[in-house]
Amino acid sequence: MPREDGTIPAMTTNKRATIVDSRRIGQMPPAHEGSLEAPTGILKDLRGRPLRDLRISVTDRCNFRCTYCMPKEIFGKDYNFLPHGSLLSFEEITRLSGLFLAHGVHKLRLTGGEPLLRKDIDKLIAMLTELRTTEGQPPEVTLTTNGSVLARKARALKAAGLARVTVSLDSMDDAVFRAMNDVDFPVADVLAAIDAARDAGFDRVKVNMVVKRGVNDQEILPMARHFRGSGITLRFIEFMDVGSTNHWRMQEVVPSKEVLARIQSEFPLVPLQATAPGETAERWGYAGADGQLDPKLGEVGFISSVTKAFCGSCNRIRLSTEGQLFTCLFSTSGWDLRGLMRGGATDAQLSQAIADIWHGRNDRYSELRASLPKKDDAPDGGKRIEMSYIGG
Ligand code: SAM
Ligand code: SF4
Ligand code: SF4
Repeated sequence: MPREDGTIPAMTTNKRATIVDSRRIGQMPPAHEGSLEAPTGILKDLRGRPLRDLRISVTDRCNFRCTYCMPKEIFGKDYNFLPHGSLLSFEEITRLSGLFLAHGVHKLRLTGGEPLLRKDIDKLIAMLTELRTTEGQPPEVTLTTNGSVLARKARALKAAGLARVTVSLDSMDDAVFRAMNDVDFPVADVLAAIDAARDAGFDRVKVNMVVKRGVNDQEILPMARHFRGSGITLRFIEFMDVGSTNHWRMQEVVPSKEVLARIQSEFPLVPLQATAPGETAERWGYAGADGQLDPKLGEVGFISSVTKAFCGSCNRIRLSTEGQLFTCLFSTSGWDLRGLMRGGATDAQLSQAIADIWHGRNDRYSELRASLPKKDDAPDGGKRIEMSYIGG
């Protein structure tokens, strides 16, 4: 079983770890020419996309070793996780979040690594919900978790003001799930955590399933059967080529179109409208016997980052555990907001740096994926930031 601090006991690491560290401290944000501008509540990047969603990674540690995210041969007992002093403090995270809200961010998603391993995470949530958007509302604070310690933290998270929780779960089959998390964690405990979250008052729980061909694609229908009509939205995520360590191959991606067809072979589905601009998932609702949408049966979502890029409406920015700002999940380097902050920058200077970074953003990796050089042929060897560092 995994340890709670995210390290892996020596016995469970079967190969000597090769330390590949693709983290690097980012560049200092560009120096701003001229006077500092007050935030207007709306920032547009070079492609006219507004900034709405900040994802904050609160730890690079995890107690799972999902093979597609933190493969054990890399993230073994010799892996150098970040020392505590390099992590942003709760005060630093809250200060930066407030500046992002003034630029139009409405949603703060806590992620990792495993965010529930960060000590006193409920205190951070309470601090973030004290902030206000430009409309004077509290931001929507959400969290993505592997569910391993959710059962015992759910009530404190709810009391702190967490709005929603998303649980990652890749299979209903215990053996498949234990093999995918690679630390022998049982599926029953994650299912119990989902129930505990609902008992604590989280009524809109989502479940994320990463689908890998030949690994868990046979679990698509069992997962759909289990969650249909349960009030929980199941979302299928295409296996992505994020990071440099998960041996991604296009052959292992199951396109959302195929997942949809497999579900429709058993349950009729009808397309639903997006609820918010920039929404990552395409939504489909279950239909009843008459072929009409039946809201009681709930819905499924498809996140098709590989086969149907949604860069055109991407309004997300990511803050790493140590305060590096990334404008795309596939970035190779970030902007060093922590350096700026710890160097004594004022709020106005930090706010200007954020504005300048977003104004200069031109990312659209998923749209360009097919035409880019293969990772190994890329000038930097394709070293991208790992998902466990930058947050999903
Ligand atoms: N540990 C938490 C969890 O698993 O929910 C939060 C962090 S995890 C990096 C966030 C999400 O990224 C999870 O839903 C995970 O399944 C997904 N993810 C990780 N690696 C991925 C990959 N290569 N392709 C697609 N999704 C991935
Ligand atoms: Fe940990 Fe989440 Fe990555 Fe799995 S997907 S290894 S639970 S950070
Ligand atoms: Fe956004 Fe980058 Fe993903 Fe495109 S590839 S949707 S720009 S994070």
